[in-house]
Amino acid sequence: MPLFRKILIANRGEIAVRVIRACRELGIRTVAVYSEIDRGSMHVRLADEAICIGPARVADSYLNIPSILSAAEVTDSDAIHPGYGFLSENPQFAEACSKSRIAFIGPTADNIRLGGNKARAKQVMKKHGIPVVPGSDGILNDKKATMAIARKIGFPIIVKASAGGGGRGMRVVYDEMQLDQALTAAETEAMASFGNGDLYIEKYIPNIRHIEVQIAVDREGNVLQLGERDCSVQRRHQKLLEESPSPIITEKLRDKFGKYAVKAAEALRYRNLGTIEFIFDKEENIYFMEINTRVQVEHPVTEMVTGIDIIKEQIRLATGLPLSIKQRNMHLRGHSIECRINAEDPFTFVPSPGKISFYYQPGGPGIRVDSSIYCGYTVPPHYDSLIAKLIAYGSNRKEAIDRMRRALGEYRIEGIKTTIPFHKTVLSNPDFISGNFDTGYLERVNVKGP
Ligand code: ADP
Ligand code: ADP
Ligand code: MG
Repeated sequence: MPLFRKILIANRGEIAVRVIRACRELGIRTVAVYSEIDRGSMHVRLADEAICIGPARVADSYLNIPSILSAAEVTDSDAIHPGYGFLSENPQFAEACSKSRIAFIGPTADNIRLGGNKARAKQVMKKHGIPVVPGSDGILNDKKATMAIARKIGFPIIVKASAGGGGRGMRVVYDEMQLDQALTAAETEAMASFGNGDLYIEKYIPNIRHIEVQIAVDREGNVLQLGERDCSVQRRHQKLLEESPSPIITEKLRDKFGKYAVKAAEALRYRNLGTIEFIFDKEENIYFMEINTRVQVEHPVTEMVTGIDIIKEQIRLATGLPLSIKQRNMHLRGHSIECRINAEDPFTFVPSPGKISFYYQPGGPGIRVDSSIYCGYTVPPHYDSLIAKLIAYGSNRKEAIDRMRRALGEYRIEGIKTTIPFHKTVLSNPDFISGNFDTGYLERVNVKGP
C-alpha cells in the first residue's frame, strides 16, 4: 500500500515541526498552515508548502474547519495530521475530512466522540471489567441527586467536565458546603472551554500517580502497547514533566497496566494512536481515568525507550499498513525524561510571551530537543505557552537525570521567562531523585527559585 503523497498539518509549534520531520523521513511532502501572526514560525519555514488560514484568533484560523479543508484541497493534500489540541479531538472535523476524501490521521470519529465523553467512556470500561474510580454513573442531572451520590461515595470528591481536557473544568470538593458552588464554577468553566457543560463526579483520591499507557492499533484491530509513562509531576492537574518507564512500576504491574490498556482498546474498537490514562493509588489499585484520542505531548519519552518513531507509525497505520512491530518483539530499554519548557514565569507560571533575544540549544549524548523556536523569534500571546520539550535518555534513570540536569544548565533562552529554572529545582529535589513523588508533590515541596 503506498503511503500518502502529501500531508497537511493542521497545527503549529513544536508538534507541527515534529510531524514535518516524520513526513520528510518517510518521503511525504508537507503543507503547513498558519495564522497571520505565525508567518515567521519554524513550521512554516520547514514545510514544503505553507498556506495562511486566517487571523491570529484560533476560532478564525487553527479551529476554522472550512479554511483548513480549503487549504487541503488547494494544495491537493491527501491527508491531514491534526497534532494535539485544536481540532485533534473534534469528531466533526474527522468526519468532514472523510467527506472531502482526505484521510484524517487519527482514530475513527466514533472513537473520538467516546473519548470526548469521559463519563460515558467510564461506563463502557466498567461494563468491560476495567476498574473505574467510584462516582456518578454517567453525567449529573440535578443537584439533589448529585448530593446523594457525593454522600454515598464520601468526600473529598472531584467534579469533572465530561468534555474536559488540559486539566480544565475540574474542582476538588472537600465538604458538602462547597459542592453547590463547585458545580456552578465547573459548569461555567466547562461551557466556556468546551462549549459543553456536562459534569460527572468521582471520589477524589489524593496523592496518586498518573500512569498512562501508549497504544497503537492497526485497521484489523491488532493492539500494540508501548509501556507506561509516569506523568505525576503536575501543577493544577497539568503535566510538567514526564518519564518512561515509571520509577515505581514493577514488571508485574507493567504487565497488568498493559493488559488493561489492550482490553480498553479492544472494548472501544479503537484504531490508530491513543493513550489510556490511569490512576494508581497508594494501595496499588489501578483505575481507568480517560482515553486521549490523539498523539500526546509526552510521546517522545516512549519513543526513546522503545526505539519506535510513534508519528511515523501513526502515519503508516492511517494508510492501512499493519503494525511495524509485534508485541513480543517490543522491549523497553533505558530511561527517558521530558521537561516541558513553557514561556512562563518559572514559579508563578504567568505566561511570558515576547521576543527571544538569544538562543542556545543543548545537545550531546542522550539529549533531544523538540521545539519550534529560534533566536529572534517572537512567542505570540495567543496560543499555548509550550515552546520546547527537552528530552533526556540514559541507560538508567540516574543517567537520564544527570543528562537532563546537564542539558538544563546548557540551555539559554533569553528575552522571555521560561520554566527552565523550575525544572532545575525539580531535578535536584531528593524526593524526585528517589522517585518518591505523586500528583500532590509540587504543593508539598513548594518549589521555589534557585
Ligand atoms: P484531563 O481530561 O483534563 O486530562 P483527567 O481526567 O485526565 O483530565 O485528569 C487530569 C488530572 O487530574 C489527573 O492526571 C490527576 O492528576 C487528576 N485527577 C483526575 N481525577 C482524579 C481523581 N479521581 N482523584 C485524584 N486526582 C484526579
Ligand atoms: P497531553 O495529554 O498530551 O499531555 P495536555 O493535557 O497537556 O496533553 O494537552 C495537550 C494540548 O492540548 C495542550 O495544548 C492543551 O491545552 C490542549 N488540549 C487538551 N485537551 C483539550 C481540549 N479538550 N480542548 C482544547 N484543547 C485541549
Ligand atoms: Mg487527562
